[in-house]
Formats: sequence, C-alpha cells, structure tokens
Amino acid sequence: MSQSVAFIGLGNMGGGMAANLVNAGFNVHAFDLSAAALENAKKAGCEIYNDPCEAAKNVDFVVTMLPNGNIVEAVYIHDQKLLDVVHKNTLLIDCSTVAPENSRRVAVEAEKRGLRFIDAPVSGGTAAAAAGTLAFMCGGAVDACEDAKAVLNVMGANIFRAGDHGAGSVAKLCNNMLLAVHMIGTSEALQLGVSNGLDPKALSEIMLKSSGCNWSLEKYNPYPGVMENVPASRDYEGGFMINLMLKDLGLALESARESGQSVPMGSLAQSLYTLAKTRDKRNGLSDFSSIIDMFEK
Ligand code: NAD
Repeated sequence: MSQSVAFIGLGNMGGGMAANLVNAGFNVHAFDLSAAALENAKKAGCEIYNDPCEAAKNVDFVVTMLPNGNIVEAVYIHDQKLLDVVHKNTLLIDCSTVAPENSRRVAVEAEKRGLRFIDAPVSGGTAAAAAGTLAFMCGGAVDACEDAKAVLNVMGANIFRAGDHGAGSVAKLCNNMLLAVHMIGTSEALQLGVSNGLDPKALSEIMLKSSGCNWSLEKYNPYPGVMENVPASRDYEGGFMINLMLKDLGLALESARESGQSVPMGSLAQSLYTLAKTRDKRNGLSDFSSIIDMFEK
C-alpha cells in the first residue's frame, strides 16, 4: 500500500513539492487556506481537505511549508493543534524557513506527546521545488532524519543532517546570510568593472576562473544579459524576492543577537536590502539579484 503524506501549505514552494510526492506514488492529503492553492494541488493529483486535522489524522508523514514561524507554531501547537491529533507513528517534518527557536518549541511540544518532529528547511527556489532538486538541512534525532529521507529524497537532491532540533534552521540562516553577502559583493565587483570599461560577460568569465568565483557569479549572474534564464535577464521578475531575503536576514540577525555573535557583514547586507526594497519598483517583489541597481552610476 502506498504511504500517505499530509501536506500543509501548498504555495509557490509547497505546490511543486507536493506534486513530486504524488508523482512518486504517495497518497497526498493537501490543506491550505487558499482556495487557489488547493485547486492547483487537486490538479496535481492531491486529495483535498478543508481541515488540516482531518488531513493529518492517519498519515505516515506530515510536511509543512508555511510562510513563517508564528504560523508553524499555530498550526502544530496553538490553533490547529496538529500535535494533538496525529498518530504516534506519524513523522512530522517542517520545511518552512523559521527561527531555530520556533523549531525547538515545536520539537519540545512534540516530544511531550511522544511524537517525532524535525526541522528541514530548504535551499533552492521554486524551480528546484518543482524539479525535485532542493537541498534539505535537517535538525532532529538521527533516526527521525533518516526516516524522513523516504519523502525528502523525492523532493530534493541533497539531504543533510545539521544536528539536533533547530540545527537545520540555523544552517539555512547561515547559508542565506552568506548568499546575501556574496550577491552584494559580486554585484559591486561587476559594476566596478563596467564603470571602468570592462564587458560584464568578459569580467564574469575571468572571475569564474579566478579566486572571486562564487555561486552568485556561477549560477545567478546579477548583470543583465550575461546569463540566460536568470532573473537579471528578465528584468528581475520571479526568482527569490528581496522580501524573502529580508525575512531570512532578519532571522539570521535575531539568532546572532541571541547568541551574542557579531555579524557585521550580515547587518550591512540587511541595511542594503532594506534600501533596495525602498528603491524597488515592485516594492520588494523583484529578485534579490536586482541589488546590483544600487551600484549603477
Ligand atoms: P507562499 O506564500 O507561496 O506559500 C505559503 C502557503 O501557506 C500559502 O499558500 C498560504 O495560503 C499557506 N498558508 C498560510 N497560512 C496557513 C495555515 N495556517 N494553514 C495552511 N496553509 C497556510 O510561500 P513560499 O514561497 O511557498 O514559501 C514557503 C516557505 O518556504 C517560507 O517559509 C519561505 O521562507 C520558504 N522558502 C521559500 C523559497 C522561495 O524561493 N519561495 C525558497 C526557500 C525557502
């Protein structure tokens, strides 16, 4: 008999992830507050529910992909109280980007009820979610992270265990803070070259084979026209919004404050992205690589 997954939160990311589970033969129970998201999930082959508790009652796995940590805690603990209705053998997996404290609070409440919960946030955007090539960063017990691979392997290409509860969320915030910083550095360097008469394509080729090489340059060049199929070559539409980068930087800086860790580059990145949002014609809905506009003369 095929295994069942309750999937809560079928937005830009969750929609593609749930569709991949259906295609792999899982019986997917879908719940979302949005009728449009549910309609899409139905088209993808999910079974639609009007109540998250009904969706999650008798399943092997629950996967949540929700906007933020308050909503995650509301769904598991305070409002929908999923922790009070799921079966003891159900493995709970939260893939949302949240503060490590959100993950730990849900894990503690799950443990009190004898349930297994892991945080498993993702790297990779909507295209990776649709293609099933996300990277998952898991936090939780070794056996739970191992067992979660039954579903994570369907939705992703790389599955890591970062450590205990909350560690997946910490890893995600560290990664995205670094992404913010190297996108800004890459943009600044490209613009400096252009302002001094260099062709951005030629400069990119040089830096790709030199010590400045990094992911932003390799996969996501921010200068328009250098690479095909990246947001810079479609006026920064789609991709990873400035607003989402600001959310992740906010969480990273919150973790830095709580741990007494200084993150000067992360703080500067947050200031620059805040400024970029005020200048953005789409008020933060443009892709984060549009930060290069800040450096244009
Ligand atoms: P989204 O807004 O497109 O989707 C979230 C969905 O959750 C929506 O359909 C919304 O209706 C639903 N929802 C909200 N509250 C709910 C509730 N109480 N019960 C059920 N459903 C509810 O967001 P997204 O882009 O899919 O992002 C989801 C998560 O993934 C976020 O935490 C985000 O930070 C993270 N993430 C996003 C990206 C990206 O590129 N979009 C990449 C990596 C991680």
